[in-house]
Amino acid sequence: MSKLIRQYRKVHLDLRKLYDPFTEEHCPTCPTPCCMKPARVDSVDIALAEAHGCTLPPHADPEEDRNETAKEYLGGGVPIYFRENVPCDFLGETGCAFPRDLRPYGCTRFICDPMKRLMDPAKLREVKVLLKRLDYLHEQIVAVANGKRRPR
Ligand code: SF4
Ligand code: SF4
Repeated sequence: MSKLIRQYRKVHLDLRKLYDPFTEEHCPTCPTPCCMKPARVDSVDIALAEAHGCTLPPHADPEEDRNETAKEYLGGGVPIYFRENVPCDFLGETGCAFPRDLRPYGCTRFICDPMKRLMDPAKLREVKVLLKRLDYLHEQIVAVANGKRRPR
């Protein structure tokens, strides 16, 4: 495994340690759950998880969901996924199908309103520091995946 991907996975785990106590307490009773379509998942997230042994639901196509949502919105309508709460295809009985250390970047990056309001401010500051690191590593990984830079 490249150093870059090892570092990326480590930051995910560090973030999960901060997120887990919050999500365990607040997600089960959240009035506005966030694991809904269109999910913040892209092809790099999927390729990374599958390259590291994860088997994801084969029918899931988050990029197509987002394209359809964009078309509906740009056509002047209210997209179905904004009108109806449709759970993310990667959400199963035991939670997210992605590995804990390779959750989709966009999902991990999302700080929800309840988190902004209810998380301990010191923990939230730690989250933001780690997210900056995650941003940097993710940018590097995408650049390598797109052939714009060499792996290290
Ligand atoms: S919006 Fe926040 S509190 Fe609600 S389900 Fe998502 S992570 Fe949990
Ligand atoms: S990919 Fe996982 S974390 Fe992201 S919305 Fe779907 S179930 Fe939630």
